[in-house]
Amino acid sequence: MARSLIVQKFGGSSVANTERIKQVAQRVVQTKRQGHDVVVVVSALGDTTDELLELARQISQNPPERELDMLMATGEQVSVALLAMAIEELGEDAISFTGSQVGIITDGRHTKAKVIDINAKRIHDEVAKGRVVIVAGFQGMTMSQEITTLGRGGSDLTAVALAKALSAELCEIFTDVEGVFTADPRIVPNARKLSAISYDEMLEMASLGAQVMQARSIFVAKRFNVPIHVRSSFSSREGTMITQAAKAMEDVVVSGVTLQKDEAKVTIQDVPDKPGMAAQIFRELAEKDVNVDMIVQNVSREGATDVSFTVIKHDLPATLRIARSVAQRIGAGEVTTDEGIAKLSIVGIGMRSHSGVAAKMFEALSRERVNIEMISTSEIKLSCVIRKAHAERAMRVIHKAFGLSKRRA
Ligand code: ADP
Ligand code: ASP
Ligand code: MG
Repeated sequence: MARSLIVQKFGGSSVANTERIKQVAQRVVQTKRQGHDVVVVVSALGDTTDELLELARQISQNPPERELDMLMATGEQVSVALLAMAIEELGEDAISFTGSQVGIITDGRHTKAKVIDINAKRIHDEVAKGRVVIVAGFQGMTMSQEITTLGRGGSDLTAVALAKALSAELCEIFTDVEGVFTADPRIVPNARKLSAISYDEMLEMASLGAQVMQARSIFVAKRFNVPIHVRSSFSSREGTMITQAAKAMEDVVVSGVTLQKDEAKVTIQDVPDKPGMAAQIFRELAEKDVNVDMIVQNVSREGATDVSFTVIKHDLPATLRIARSVAQRIGAGEVTTDEGIAKLSIVGIGMRSHSGVAAKMFEALSRERVNIEMISTSEIKLSCVIRKAHAERAMRVIHKAFGLSKRRA
């Protein structure tokens, strides 16, 4: 009978130092000795990726993205080798690989590459020899053998993509919290662990700031129906299952609250109020790969109107360059920015069939005197842009208003 294969991913804090690497090795060996084949994906040690980026920043404000990828990919190469050694110490065979060695082929968009294909043969061959295979997360290689990375949090994507390519039974994501919570437990201490959540809700939560899973990894998991178990690397308790339908959740209107603090608001003042203006602004931004999030066009006065939108801060310099040049060409006014904003969102499949959810959120914010600057909705989420200074308090208020807190024991 074929043995079942499990992909286990350990995040940066799970491998922050050699003691933790030894603990991870024990966990992997335990899974192996329970009769599973195991393929492990690891992130770089602790805050290594941030530290590498800081080194780059000390050299250049605008480093070539190809070189950033060369630099960042070194982080995961350290952790895979150390984990392989730790597993060998425990008496099991292990072998570590970089992304390119195991044929994780990506497109050429440095620092945010997409996985195109995985040639799983090498992994299968090593697993067949009884080895634990350890793969560097977050990295791949283009067809022309350039090293790429998959965007921050990209080890989640490596794990999910490998689980799909290897037809794994399960993809286990080990992290520093016990699963997916109704809100970031660091900000909302009485947030509740969800036993299950659907891909759709997790995708929204991840895209709206819940860092526990990388959004793109959930997109891939949903597409290929890869079951994910998010759990703690420090305890053996059950975590959160992410699957197609989380039945237990269907009666729940709101499943989670998220906060995103890395966006900035850009306003183009006095845009002439005639057809084609918005098209011109947003076409040029799109051509430069700038992802615009929320857009608000104010009521027009005397033939002109203000257009505001949000972008992630990383894209702010490029956005300003483009917005200023378009503004000049179309005869608009000044372009201003505001980095003091945050986006607070509620997510839940139940919102599809319940009314009054928006009113409840607005009322709760108004009771706290939190001003709403922008609003956007979809079937299963509602987001408000508010002042960053109030954001964490507002998050706790909304979490409470929707009754998401832990029940007292
Ligand atoms: P890893 O290094 O394991 O990939 P991350 O730091 O990327 O870990 O993700 C885990 C963190 O995500 C947690 O420490 C927690 O603060 C944060 N987080 C944000 N929102 C949530 C949520 N809804 N549920 C659980 N964790 C969350
Ligand atoms: N080390 C990478 C990062 O910090 C990838 C990951 O941890 O998933 O973003
Ligand atoms: Mg992560």
